[in-house]
Amino acid sequence: MVKKSMFSNPLHVGRPNVGDRDRFLERINGALDRLWLANNGPLVREFEARVAEMAGTEHCVPVANATTGIQIAAKAAGLQPGDEVIVPSFTSPATPHALQWVGLVPVFCDVEATTANADPEHVEQLIGPKTRAIVGVHVFGRPCEIDQLSKLAEWHGIPVLFDAAQAVGCTYKGKPVGGFGSAEIFSFHATKYVNSFEGGAIVTNDERIASQARVMRNLGLDDNRETVACGINGRMTEAAAAMGLTSLEAMEAFMEINRENHESYRDGLAGLPGVKVYEQADEERANHQYVVIEVDAATAGIHRDAVQAALTEHNVLARPYFHPGCHMIDPYRGRPDVHTPLPLPRTEALCERVLSLPTGTAVGPAEIAAVCEIIRDACAGA
Ligand SMILES: *Cc1c(COP(=O)(O)O)cnc(C)c1O
Repeated sequence: MVKKSMFSNPLHVGRPNVGDRDRFLERINGALDRLWLANNGPLVREFEARVAEMAGTEHCVPVANATTGIQIAAKAAGLQPGDEVIVPSFTSPATPHALQWVGLVPVFCDVEATTANADPEHVEQLIGPKTRAIVGVHVFGRPCEIDQLSKLAEWHGIPVLFDAAQAVGCTYKGKPVGGFGSAEIFSFHATKYVNSFEGGAIVTNDERIASQARVMRNLGLDDNRETVACGINGRMTEAAAAMGLTSLEAMEAFMEINRENHESYRDGLAGLPGVKVYEQADEERANHQYVVIEVDAATAGIHRDAVQAALTEHNVLARPYFHPGCHMIDPYRGRPDVHTPLPLPRTEALCERVLSLPTGTAVGPAEIAAVCEIIRDACAGA
């Protein structure tokens, strides 16, 4: 039985990982000495090279955040207002909102129960005369069915983009995530395991998309400072790149800590009926940046919400990502005829079961053992 309020300080999901502070400050000092703080400075260009190297892509366009990155990538891929884009409902609201904000029409597909990723069969059913793109999401860093979605897109002559916000450093069939589809978009938000405070990157092997994205990110200015298109300010700052570079240097170490944490949770919850730790694909390199449990209320005898409440009582701030599904939030839920042609039973079931637990450098075996004990007590009705 766990004592009341196990943790005197709240244990958050998504507490930032910080790399080598001295290296970070050195880089910041360099930027201050140069008085070059924005506008594609040397740190941003170095970050660009490192991210392209990590993703194994020819091009990388660093941006202010992944949300802007999705918007720029969609426009660079030629999508126009009114175009329908098929996207899973089980994702961060950032994915459909980014599309909706540039006038695209998200159409939500269901997921596969085991992977929590877009179900290619359902995507195929949803492709209609107005479909102009597919946006896959690598949910919890687990690559979606990239090959199947790419084949579908090719068959229909439309682009496929991947929201790879959660999949930095992961592999698909042994190749780094980043080089698939027309483009992929990474996030380096503070809550991601590799962060640049706020930041993102569009990675691609498509020269045209990369050059379009560069221009669009910079208010439509080309290298000669001539305005050649309509653009937005999607630029990354030198401070963000300083953090991003420092964080990338610690990527392997963060990944290893996450992997160990994932194992500790798996061991700590082993044999608990109705509670399953979400698993990554065998044989792939995974960043394990999220530890997600699925609570099957019928078997566990307790609903996910009650498990979350029990954790909250002990100052463990677990989060039900991604609840509710995006088709259940505004503005999409008001127009099911436009956004959700079918009910999404697997998404809705999953949304009732998932709970993200604290991981990253902020927790270790002792904290994890305590969190598992709280969950076990809650399930035992203690
Ligand atoms: C974090 C996240 C985003 C948004 O990233 P930002 O850099 O915060 O804009 C988009 N999609 C998914 C799946 C995410 O997890």
